[in-house]
Amino acid sequence: MESLLKKISDFGLDAASYSGQDALAFWAHVRTHIATTPEDQAHCFIISAEHLSKQRQFQESIHDLNAALSLLSLPEDAELILEIKDSLSDRFFITGDYANALNHYVESTTIAVEHSFIDPYVKAIIGMGNLCNAYGDHTRALRYYQKIDSIDHAINSRSLRLKYKLFKLACFLLMNRPEKALPLLKECEQLCILVSDKVLTGQVYLYNAILLRRKGQTLQALRDLANIQYTYGNLHSTWLSNMLRLELAYCLTELGRDHLSNWLLEQTEKRISNGYAPILNLNLCNSLAKIYEQQGKYQQALTYQKKAYDLESALVTAIPIGELGAAQLRRLSRFELQLKLILSEQENRELKETTESQKNTVAQLQIDAFTDPLTTLHNRRWLDIKLKDLLLHETPFSLMVIDIDHFKSINDELTHLVGDKAIIQVSEQLAESFSFAGASCVRFGGEEFLVLLENIDIADAQRHAEQYRHQINQLNWQNILGERGLTVSIGVTKHKGGENTQRTFYRADKALYRAKANGRNQVCIEFE
Ligand code: GH3
Ligand code: MG
Ligand code: MG
Repeated sequence: MESLLKKISDFGLDAASYSGQDALAFWAHVRTHIATTPEDQAHCFIISAEHLSKQRQFQESIHDLNAALSLLSLPEDAELILEIKDSLSDRFFITGDYANALNHYVESTTIAVEHSFIDPYVKAIIGMGNLCNAYGDHTRALRYYQKIDSIDHAINSRSLRLKYKLFKLACFLLMNRPEKALPLLKECEQLCILVSDKVLTGQVYLYNAILLRRKGQTLQALRDLANIQYTYGNLHSTWLSNMLRLELAYCLTELGRDHLSNWLLEQTEKRISNGYAPILNLNLCNSLAKIYEQQGKYQQALTYQKKAYDLESALVTAIPIGELGAAQLRRLSRFELQLKLILSEQENRELKETTESQKNTVAQLQIDAFTDPLTTLHNRRWLDIKLKDLLLHETPFSLMVIDIDHFKSINDELTHLVGDKAIIQVSEQLAESFSFAGASCVRFGGEEFLVLLENIDIADAQRHAEQYRHQINQLNWQNILGERGLTVSIGVTKHKGGENTQRTFYRADKALYRAKANGRNQVCIEFE
């Protein structure tokens, strides 16, 4: 895909700037004049198919997806073929051609297992489970979803993992098994934090509200539902917005607020005539029938029950449930074993590689965790540990705080990049000047540094500080700073036995401020 996008931009075109009919014309043009390989041409068909689907031209979208398929071949295009089959089954599902949807699911499972693709395999299984659910056989749907349980950990996409759990959760709700639904809901809530997808999060809230209502906490459910609509606004999901509206109507009816509930139902009724997918329609009609029944409006309840019955009959005839029976489940059990074998082989290989490189990795991690990346001096994390160690062993030490003078003006006049180079130069000189035993240099932050001098009294520390200040002042800064030079100010103090290191730092800081106030480029000492 990247190579195709590069070819397009080489022609001076911007693929992102076309939408609707223009996009269709654009991609047809790219396919005939710019795409050079069958893969590129297939990508053009796939993108056209997406645009067509957005315009609800599902048959045309299916046509383009099939055209893309005919350009590709196994094994090299396995991933793309699986992607197309996923889109195709999705379109067939929407248009009510369940037999064709199932064909693609079945073929996808075979290809996915053969080429070790976990996510497309999971998608296909979910599709099969959804067909059983649409047929009204939730127990069988659950059997399909449960075929994913043992490979759950190997799913790459977090949102796919969340989707599969949500489908399972919905099944438990339909089967009225709250004891199974509740722990799954908690899992989904946690996954949501990482996925950050409005529709999926909305779904979690919806199921939570359903569970609350069933436990008799209808008022809380109502509040949560209102909160979702307030937080997420327009959800761009017909299914979810309708389901939320119906759940609200259930809650309102239970609380005796029929006037509000009826208003919501009227809105939903109007939407039903807009030609939604048959499964959503069936869901809506069933719920409407139930709510009207609860309200004692038997005539309306009957009308919707009849509509639901007609829709259900049509669905039952259209869904090839016979092909989703025991033989299909057995076939998937075999695949499940095959996948587990592939995964355990992969894990073993990884484990072996990890053990081999573990020592290096741990060593590298230790270096990285305690080192400032710009200067390679120690960082504050290292300092924390070092100070504890010095206190523990009651090691006497002196402390120097070093701050570059007028550093802001270097950044402002010569850019941040030059500023960084200056920081590196100051650090290199620091590491060189304090390379003797017992001296450690730390980048404390920005353009401030610390030096710990173990077993060195304050007079020696002052002498070392003075030497360093002089070296920095004398350095040839021409290469980095051109005409201007660079100086540092230094505060020095000594740790007093038994005192908190914060006090030591406070004194060193006082000394540094005095050095700055006295005109910079100097060393000051603070004893008390
Ligand atoms: P003074 O002589 O009073 O110390 O003046 P100063 O301009 O050096 O003032 P101060 O120490 O408060 O300024 C620190 C500046 O250093 C502020 C910030 O923009 C800059 N700085 C902090 N970290 C970095 C860094 O990693 N790279 C660069 N280039 N600049 C940094
Ligand atoms: Mg500073
Ligand atoms: Mg400064």
